[in-house]
Formats: sequence, C-alpha cells, structure tokens
Amino acid sequence: MDTAALFTRLGLDEATGGGGDLEVRSPITGGVIARIASTSAADTDAAIARSRAAFDEWRQVPAPRRGELVRLLGEVLRSEKEALGELVTLEVGKVTSEGLGEVQEMIDICDLGVGLSRQLYGLTIASERPGHRMLETWYPLGPVGVITAFNFPVAVWSWNTALALVCGDPVVWKPSPRTPLTALACQALLRRAGERFGGIPDGLLEVIVGGADRAVQLADDPRLPLVSATGSTTMGRALAPRIAGRLGRSLLELGGNNGMVVTPSADLELAVRAIAFSAVGTAGQRCTSLRRLIAHTDVHDDLVGRLERAYASVPVGDPREAGTLLGPLVSRESFDAMQTALDRARADGGTVTGGERVLADRFPDAYYVTPAIVRMPAQTPVVESETFAPILYAIPYGDLDEAIALHNAVPQGLSSCIFTSDLRESERFLSAVGSDCGIANVNIGPSGAEIGGAFGGEKETGGGRESGSDAWKAYMRRQTATINYSHDLPLAQGVRFDVA
Ligand code: NAD
Repeated sequence: MDTAALFTRLGLDEATGGGGDLEVRSPITGGVIARIASTSAADTDAAIARSRAAFDEWRQVPAPRRGELVRLLGEVLRSEKEALGELVTLEVGKVTSEGLGEVQEMIDICDLGVGLSRQLYGLTIASERPGHRMLETWYPLGPVGVITAFNFPVAVWSWNTALALVCGDPVVWKPSPRTPLTALACQALLRRAGERFGGIPDGLLEVIVGGADRAVQLADDPRLPLVSATGSTTMGRALAPRIAGRLGRSLLELGGNNGMVVTPSADLELAVRAIAFSAVGTAGQRCTSLRRLIAHTDVHDDLVGRLERAYASVPVGDPREAGTLLGPLVSRESFDAMQTALDRARADGGTVTGGERVLADRFPDAYYVTPAIVRMPAQTPVVESETFAPILYAIPYGDLDEAIALHNAVPQGLSSCIFTSDLRESERFLSAVGSDCGIANVNIGPSGAEIGGAFGGEKETGGGRESGSDAWKAYMRRQTATINYSHDLPLAQGVRFDVA
C-alpha cells in the first residue's frame, strides 16, 4: 500500500495533514515520511485531566463489559493486521513478518485480557475472630502513564493497555518520539472499537507526542498512580526516582544483556538456528536480543565457525522485500554506537567478523549493517553493557559453575537460556543458583516470549512484570476487608479495650 493510502486506512490523515514540528523518519530510507505536532506541556496537563475524568466513569463499568471493549479492539486489530504491521515496518524498519508478528502479539494480549476480565479474582482469608469474614478485592487504580520505546512501538502499548482497560484504568501514552504514527494509529483503532462498543469515555486513551520532557511530566504527575516505563536503563534511572519521590508506583521494563549458555551436550544445529533468530532478528534491536554466547570450550570453535558461515549468508536489505531477514538500524546514532562497541571489543582483544555498513549506495541516509560476531577472550566491560545492534560476543567457558557466574556477572537481568541435552545442567540453570534473569529458557533462544507468561527482568532491567500470569495486579489496588456479622466486638491478637 502506498504511504498516503496507509495513513488514510489507519486514521492518520488528520495528524499528518496539518504539518508540525516533529519530523517522522523511516529507518528504511532515512527520509521524512510525515510531520506532526508535538503535544505541549499544557495540552499534556489537559490530557491527564481528561483521563482522570474518564477514570471516574470507566471504573464503574463492570469488568466483563470492559473486557468487551478489549475484545472489539482485538477484532479491529485482526482486520487491520496487515496495515498496522506495514506501518510498524515503515516506522521502525522491522522485516514484514516481524511487523505482523508484533500486531499478532497485540491480538493475543487482547484475547488474554478478555478472559481476564472475568477473572480479576481476590481471596477469602480465614479470620481469627468468631463471626468474622475477611476478604481481599481488587479495584481499578487510576489512569496509567505508559512510556514506550521505539523497538516495540505497538506491542508494549497493547500489553499495558489491554490489561489497564480491563482493570478499569484509562491510559496516558507517551510513545517514543521515533514512533508517533503507530501510536496515533493505535488510538484511532481503539476509537473504532469504542464506536462498536457504543461509545467510550473521552480520555480513555490519550496519546502524548514528545520526548523526555513529556515523560518527566508524566512521572511527576500524582494524578497517575502508576507509570509503566519501557526503555533504556538511562531512562529508568531518570524517571524511577521522580516517581518514587511522589510515592507513586512504577513498573519498569528496561534494558537487557541476554546470554545463552551452550554446553557440550547441546544440539548445535538447534542452537545455531536459535542464535541466528535471537541475535540477528530485529537487527539486534529487541530488549531480549541475544548478545552474549557462553559456549563450552569443547563446542565453542565449532559453534562459532558455524555461526560465522551462517551470518555470511544473512540477507540484509529493505525490510519490505521478501526474503530480507536483516533490516536497517533505527538511526545514525545506533550505527555509531555499534561501531564504537566493536572498536572497544577489538581494543579488548576481540576478533570481529561482520559489522560493516552495507547498501550505502542505495540508501545513503539509512544504516544497514552485516551482523557481527566477536570472539572475545573474556567478558570485558563492553560486553557487560547493552549495545542496541546485532553484535554477538562469544566467550568460552570450562565448567558450568563458571558459565553461570559469567552469565550472571552483568548488571542487567532480563532474559537467558541454556542449550543442553543434560537434565542436570538445565535444572541447575533454572534453579535458585542458576540464571538470575526474569526469563530463563531451555533449548529456546532468549527472545520471542509468549504473552501468557509474566514478562520482565531483574536487576537493572527494573523488576517490572507485564503481560500474562498475575501481571494485571500492578494495574489495580488491593483492598482487604473484614466484616463482623456477630453481636460482639472481639479485637485481633486478643487485645482487651473495654470502655464501659
Ligand atoms: P529510550 O530509553 O531512549 O526511550 C524510551 C522512552 O523513554 C521514550 O519514550 C523516550 O522518549 C523516553 N526517554 C528516553 N530517555 C529519557 C530520559 N532521560 N528521561 C525521560 N524519558 C526518557 O529507549 P529506546 O532507544 O526507545 O529503546 C531501546 C531501549 O529500550 C533498550 O535499552 C531496550 O532494551 C529497552 N526495551 C526494554 C524492553 C523491556 O521490556 N524490558 C522492551 C523494549 C525495549
């Protein structure tokens, strides 16, 4: 579809028709695809006020009925999957199947949200007092500030929003300044679902177009009891203390530095395929991308050799073209960061294969690279930090204790995996003395999580959990109630306080 038709289909004509101060560029060519207006501080303030008013209404709608809106959103997304996936590809540079996969993830979380809307369960708890009943109930929390990164421009919004809406909370969303179009398209699609629903409160979803200043404004605003922020650890360090300073609740999904341990008993064929997808896919621009390969000395050279051969044949190019597996980096800054990391790795004794810029003739303003593998003598500081690009550092190990120690010796704790056919090794990796990450897989790469599980990581990744399992509890407030249906007033812990 041509860009103008795509914008019309996704309800973007108004936002893109009037021009504006923010240039939106496609990483595919580096060219400007739209100009739109940023949201001012005053307009952000008004948006938060509208979301507060929407909360007063939405929290009174029964949860299963709120789930109906999410079901309709899922239907709209099904019918617009191709178009929205295409816009993700245009705005972020993901290959077509990954753009579509991201929209599928949105559909999946809507399905989960619909079921959840009938299962926002509490507990009943045995009371120590006769004639008393104790129970726990979950109630809507309030408007949720959602701050998102460029690399999953729509999925992360949907993880938060499907749950927030079902839980009774409006959303004030500040997407990455690189991806306002996909955000405004999501807003238009929710509006469409809202019409089918029979109308939704004005302010149920507000989109704030802007950068760090607007994110800080959301972090500082006490009308947003929860701020869910996804992005770099730098962003988390800037925002978390501000939210904590007003005693607000934060849900942080920050950077990762994900490792794979490959043991002597591993199926290397399977490992090569998993490594190729998780280290090269999305141009290494997933929070869960594989960045560190910790391979036993018995298999290290064989494995890395296979990978170097596989990497040489990875098709790099326009992500819209069939067969392309590696699209562009998001920006010139990303390319520069990749080159700086590779130079540092070389200075630390690493041997680099790949990592060069390609296709500069065809796309002079865009940044395409070959994927890089770096044979490292040790896990030096450059390996310990996240570089958002397709760089895989390979480090040999001697025994599993050493492998797990190396694996855990980085500040981030998002995703991890082990390739092994030995039950003792996999169970150790999954045990309390194994991987310290929020996600740990066996014979599966670290990326591409399903929405049914809780998603998030430990240490500098921030500790937040989104998506499945009981992640919904972050979007609600818990109330413990004790009811006395007797004629006496016994006090807990046997305390006596007789005034008469
Ligand atoms: P980023 O940190 O540059 O930006 C993310 C969001 O935070 C944007 O909306 C941005 O405007 C805002 N922001 C950035 N710096 C800020 C600051 N100093 N103060 C206030 N707000 C600020 O991240 P990015 O480049 O868009 O995305 C890549 C990063 O996001 C990687 O580190 C990646 O690992 C991480 N990420 C994490 C997850 C996860 O679930 N853990 C998911 C996706 C991306």
